[in-house]
Amino acid sequence: MTPATLFYIIIGILVLDFVIDQCIDYLNARHFNDAIPGILRDIYSDEKYLESQAYKKANYNFSRLSAAFSLLLTLAFFFLDGFAYVDRIARSITDNEIGIALLFFGIIFLASDILTTPFAYYHTFVIEEKFGFNKTSVKTFLLDKLKGWLIGGLLGGGILALIIWFYNIAGPDFWIYAWIAVAVFTVFTNMFYSKLIVPVFNKQTPLEEGELRSAIEKYAAVAGFTLDNIFVIDGSKRSTKANAYFSGFGSQKRITLYDTLINDLETDEIVAVLAHEVGHYKKKHILFNMGTSLFLTGITLYILSLCIQIPELSYALGVPERSFHIGLITFGILYSPISELTGFIMNYCSRVFEYQADDYARESFGAEPLISALKKLSAGNLSNLTPHPAYVKMHYSHPTLLQRIQNLRKG
Ligand SMILES: [Zn+2]
Repeated sequence: MTPATLFYIIIGILVLDFVIDQCIDYLNARHFNDAIPGILRDIYSDEKYLESQAYKKANYNFSRLSAAFSLLLTLAFFFLDGFAYVDRIARSITDNEIGIALLFFGIIFLASDILTTPFAYYHTFVIEEKFGFNKTSVKTFLLDKLKGWLIGGLLGGGILALIIWFYNIAGPDFWIYAWIAVAVFTVFTNMFYSKLIVPVFNKQTPLEEGELRSAIEKYAAVAGFTLDNIFVIDGSKRSTKANAYFSGFGSQKRITLYDTLINDLETDEIVAVLAHEVGHYKKKHILFNMGTSLFLTGITLYILSLCIQIPELSYALGVPERSFHIGLITFGILYSPISELTGFIMNYCSRVFEYQADDYARESFGAEPLISALKKLSAGNLSNLTPHPAYVKMHYSHPTLLQRIQNLRKG
C-alpha cells in the first residue's frame, strides 16, 4: 500500500466517524420533543420540562459546533503535514528517541488542548451557568487544567517513555513488557485512585456520625458487606450535579458520595444508591471491567507490535523516516473502528451490569427508594427522558431511566 493510499484511508476514517456520530446525534435530537412515557410524567413540572428541552437543544448545538471545529482542525493538521512539522521541531531540540516522542506528543496535546479550551470554557460558564449547574470559579477551572496537564504529563509521559524504551531494547516483542507495565499501572491506579488522584482535585472527608451513617452501617451489616470507608467529596465545588461511585478493591475499597447527593436525597434514597454501588462490587463488575480492559490492551499492543515496524505508517504522515511516535498516531486512527466496536460492546456490558446492580439493590434494600432517587437525580440533571434507541446503544453506559424503573418494578 502506498503512503498516499494510507493517508486517504486515514482521512476516510476520520470523516466517516464524524458523519456517523452526527447522524446518530441528529436522530436523537429529532426525539427531544417526544411525549414523556406515563410513569416518568411526575419527574418534571411543565416549566422544568421546557427547561430540560432547552438544555438538550443547547447541548446539541454546542456539540455539533465543537465536533465540526475539531474535525476541521484535525483535517487541516493532516493536509498541512502538521505531524511532520511537529516532528521536526522535536528533533531540533533533542536526538534522544524517547525525548523526541515526549516532546512530539506534549506539543500536540498542549496545542490541541489550548485550541479547544474556549469550547470547554463556553460549556461551563455559558451553558451550564445558564441552567444553574455551574459552581466552578474561573480560578478552579484554570487550576483544573494545569493539574490535568501535570498529572497527564507525568502518567501518560511515564507510560509512553517506558513503552518506547521497551521497544528500543526488545523490538517487536516490546508489547509483552508494555502489557505487563500497563497491567501493573492499571491495578495500582485503580487501587490508589482515591488516595493519589482525587485529592489533587477535591476534598474528601469521612462521612460523619449521624442518621445517614447509622443507616448505611445498618444496611452494610444486613448485606454482609464490610464498609469502613465511606467518604464525602465536595462535588458542589464545581457543579450542582450529584453522583456516587465505588473505587478500589480489597482493603482499599471505598464508596464516595457527592455532597450534592447528600443534600438532594433522603436517607433511604442514599442507602438505595449505595446498595446499587455495593451490587457492582458483589457481582464482581469492577474486576470484570479491569480484566476486560487489560485483555483489550494486550490485543491492541500485540496488533500495534505487528504494525509499528511498517515504515509506510510514518511516510503516510509525511515523515521521511520510520519512527515509533508517528507510527503510533497512524495506528491509533487505523485502529479506531475496532476500538469503536469494543467500546460499543463494553457499553452493552455496562448496561447489563447496571440492571444487575439495580436488581441487587432491590433484593437487598428495596426498589422504591432507588426509583425515587433515580427520578430525583434525572430531574436535577435535566436528563433527556426520550433518547433515541440508536443513541442509547452507542453512547449510554446506563440503561435509560424508563428501562431501569421498568426493570426495578418487574421483580
Ligand atoms: Zn451503576
